[in-house]
Amino acid sequence: MTLIFARLLREHARGESERVVHLIRLPGDGGIPPHLFAQCGERFEPYVLESLPLPGGAPCVPCLAAVPRPGLPPNE
Ligand SMILES: [Zn+2]
Repeated sequence: MTLIFARLLREHARGESERVVHLIRLPGDGGIPPHLFAQCGERFEPYVLESLPLPGGAPCVPCLAAVPRPGLPPNE
């Protein structure tokens, strides 16, 4: 599994508050599935997202909280 930073394209968002940067899970096979899932549980169709080469903008806090951290048990 690969994680990328992505947010809704401007034309698919109802304002800047919907353009938070999510951590999106990509399948390991390199294919593009019909739906992509963020770490926070949100589901997106691939064409509504733009990927970001580096973290930037307002982050999705639930996505950040859901990232596993080495050495710490989950949810701490
Ligand atoms: Zn998110």
